[in-house]
Amino acid sequence: AAKSSGRNRAVAFAPFMEQDVYKRARLEGALKRAVREGTIIPHFQPLIDLRTNSVYGFEALARWELQPGEFVSPGEFIPLAEETGLIVPLTEHLLRLCCAEARNWPKHVGLAFNLSPVLLSDAVIGLRLIRIMSEEGFSPTRLELEITESSVMKDYPAAQKVLGDLMEAGARIALDDFGTGYSSLSQLSGFSFDTIKIDRSFVTAMNKGERQDKVIRAIVALGSGLGVKTTAEGIEDEEQLAYLRSLGCDIGQGYLLGRPMPAEAARRFLQERLGHPVPMESEQPETG
Ligand code: C2E
Ligand code: MG
Ligand code: MG
Ligand code: MG
Repeated sequence: AAKSSGRNRAVAFAPFMEQDVYKRARLEGALKRAVREGTIIPHFQPLIDLRTNSVYGFEALARWELQPGEFVSPGEFIPLAEETGLIVPLTEHLLRLCCAEARNWPKHVGLAFNLSPVLLSDAVIGLRLIRIMSEEGFSPTRLELEITESSVMKDYPAAQKVLGDLMEAGARIALDDFGTGYSSLSQLSGFSFDTIKIDRSFVTAMNKGERQDKVIRAIVALGSGLGVKTTAEGIEDEEQLAYLRSLGCDIGQGYLLGRPMPAEAARRFLQERLGHPVPMESEQPETG
């Protein structure tokens, strides 16, 4: 197996089995190099204000570019980065790149950035991220940190400190993949956050029956009751979009509204949106 994987690079990044120590070590080495050499970069997916149809912000999604145009998905390398501790330099590297890009966007356009639960056990990470934003000339008030609900529920002593530092600097907190974790409603009431991101699985299941529709409706109602924004991820068709709009869901994200795209494409996306006011309904933007 080791021999055949030399030529075909994709082989090295196929889902690896745990007992395949050699392959794993090689992947880890490649990841370490990628972090050092900066071949892991952010792509940006639009977040659209469903009331005004304007660009609310972009979510940064990590992409490992093996060679021009060939990407490894974060689902494959983020877990390894978390296990090996490489998540710290990787996150710092990504935030730096994101800030250098996002500081050129209009001021009202925000940056959503995923924070691994692992980092919430590192009490100083909040201050380090704030420092990076400051060095890169990007205001933390434009940052929305996406954390999974289960990561705060783990109740690391450090988590409150990290999130507290970031919130004090003006950053907002979004609960990512909402509905798939283990949070209870009582825990939610004791924790401060600004946005609920309804997991894609609910949106995908939406057109399949009344019951799914009602779950989404209930989450949007929960958000409005708590006074936080709701974002729906994974919007792929007009029916989903229309329904979420009718419920009063605040922000939409999904292939219908815009795919994750490289920085230059995100810039063009913004220019097109700012140049021509767009109609509210049945609009199909060009996606990268
Ligand atoms: P996430 O934060 O929930 O990000 C949304 C994922 O859904 C992204 O997958 C995005 O490409 C995908 N997506 C968006 N719209 C649609 C749609 O309409 N249809 C479908 N089928 N998919 C859609 P991606 O980029 O593969 O990222 C997967 C996960 O990896 C992310 O889930 C996030 O948890 C994690 N991740 C990505 N970048 C980073 C990062 O820089 N740091 C950390 N810690 N985690 C990251
Ligand atoms: Mg996210
Ligand atoms: Mg999400
Ligand atoms: Mg998700």
